[in-house]
Amino acid sequence: MVYLTGAGPGDIDLLTVKALRVVRQADVIIYDRLANPKILDEAKDGCKFVYVGKEDGRHTLPQDQINEVIYQNALEHETVVRLKGGDPLVFGRGGEEAAYLKERGIAYEFIPGVTSAISVPAYAGIPVTHRGVAVSFKVVTGHEAPNKEQSQVDWESMKSDETIIFLMGLHNLSKIAENLIRIGRDPATPAAVISRGTTPEQQCVVGTLENIYARVKEAGIPTPALIVVGKVVELRETLRWFAE
Ligand code: SAH
Repeated sequence: MVYLTGAGPGDIDLLTVKALRVVRQADVIIYDRLANPKILDEAKDGCKFVYVGKEDGRHTLPQDQINEVIYQNALEHETVVRLKGGDPLVFGRGGEEAAYLKERGIAYEFIPGVTSAISVPAYAGIPVTHRGVAVSFKVVTGHEAPNKEQSQVDWESMKSDETIIFLMGLHNLSKIAENLIRIGRDPATPAAVISRGTTPEQQCVVGTLENIYARVKEAGIPTPALIVVGKVVELRETLRWFAE
């Protein structure tokens, strides 16, 4: 059995009870850079650990090889835990891993995790929806440069006042902000960038679409980081609770 498991966003207490149960049973744990390594301390004696994460934006292993590593381990071991940061199906490629296993007759389960997209803003005091402020939110990849031809991201759809959360977008922050202004969002729209959310190293930089890039550059904050755009960012002033 392969458990495609969410590790949560960083704070180890945000690991689900179900994830903790399978981590304790696992014969092998295949884990990512974003999964808090302290979770591995919960494994039983003799559990094998396999690291397949990325370092400095470079893939340690390409996805098809990761799929194969999971498969090979599933042939040899009874309980395999594939541990991924946040939720395994939110930009986690958990669906691809499941499809690979399915084709080869290996049983699997998804164990959803607490995604960074919602929990990291929460730890910064930013609710992704709020009565009278935002009635919807959208989670978007920030990895695709907005000016890239054939971009799959529908920028025109981001004209409304909903909250937008960009994952994997720190490197494209200036382009993302410029593009939102270009499609008609007010340059004074509040924006926040939150780095290493839910951990003791959490940092949050707040600004507007117009100045967020300059502020983040000045602060020099590290990855992983996500971007929140929308009026909900203003709520942080009153709702902030986590010590940064
Ligand atoms: N499956 C993950 C997301 C994987 S994409 C989830 O559900 O959370 C990786 C991106 O997630 C990073 O580039 C960053 O934008 C975001 N991210 C993950 N953990 C984070 C954290 N602790 N703080 C800020 N952003 C985080």
